[in-house]
Amino acid sequence: MPAFEHELEVALTAVRQASQVCAAIQAEITPDTLAKQDKSPVTVADYSSQALICRALQHAFRGDPVIAEEDAADLRKPEQAAFLGKILGHLADAGVLATNDAVCGWIDLGGTNDFRPRYWTLDPIDGTKGFLRGEQYAVSLALIIHGEIVLGVLGCPNIPFNSQTTGTLFYAVKGGGAYMEPLDESAERVRIQVSAATDRSTLRFCESVESGHSKQDTAAIIAEKLGITAAPVRMDSQAKYGVVARGEAHVYLRLPTRADYREKIWDHAGGVLVVTEAGGTVTDVHGKPLEFTHGRELTANRGVIATTGNIHAEVVAAYAAAVS
Ligand code: AMP
Ligand code: MG
Repeated sequence: MPAFEHELEVALTAVRQASQVCAAIQAEITPDTLAKQDKSPVTVADYSSQALICRALQHAFRGDPVIAEEDAADLRKPEQAAFLGKILGHLADAGVLATNDAVCGWIDLGGTNDFRPRYWTLDPIDGTKGFLRGEQYAVSLALIIHGEIVLGVLGCPNIPFNSQTTGTLFYAVKGGGAYMEPLDESAERVRIQVSAATDRSTLRFCESVESGHSKQDTAAIIAEKLGITAAPVRMDSQAKYGVVARGEAHVYLRLPTRADYREKIWDHAGGVLVVTEAGGTVTDVHGKPLEFTHGRELTANRGVIATTGNIHAEVVAAYAAAVS
């Protein structure tokens, strides 16, 4: 049996189910919701996604620790009853009948904080701002064993699979290559690889839409140093790792905006394996490998640079020069 076959099957099914629930909730966002700056759709989707995925992991791998972004402390408060009702409704639509207690219990399965020899990490909705704008977001799940990412899955409901189908699942198992398949299972999986291009005039880099999440002015200096002339591809969430992995962009820059911020492991683990298994390279901004051995944060690293590999050292050098 190929390595982690059961884990992959469970992870793909759970991320697909959670992504479909999130897509249904995003589809209900109205201009009125946005005008009121009502964040409740993303809150409901976040909790529903975490509940579904932690439930699936518990059924298949009881006792596996999960480091996830959300917890149910707020949800258990009496004033949140209406929220819980909505979550129960979305879970029922996905075929999962649950009680309030069960939903909170599943969400809280993601409450591990410290490093474990084997653990999962989950971002139930990465790119919440993109979700609310009707743009990109991702459901990200990864399995980490002895600090090494061995499995990564990204559910990206708004990333096209091909010209006919929107919604893509990117995934990889360590040593097994990277793949994508349509979220709706309408076509077979396809192996993906990073671009081999080196001609600077054809290279593209991507970065966060949010200037508070990555220093966009420094990125522009790096692009200039490298001779990249195309405008940045700004995109929310780990969908950025997906587009680098399948050759549509060549560099993903996540440049620290604040000295005290530490990247969260769930914002990267899934995407990092997809890019490295597609032949790319991922380090922090100083070229140091990311260390998934410190609990919830990448405390030993600063920012992230992901590339097609052949230009990695040059991008890291350009960052050093840009900030010196
Ligand atoms: P993105 O969609 O790429 O902008 O990334 C979204 C993620 O950025 C969220 O899941 C947050 O965990 C993370 N985030 C929040 N504040 C910061 C920050 N100051 N620097 C980097 N990432 C951040
Ligand atoms: Mg996130």
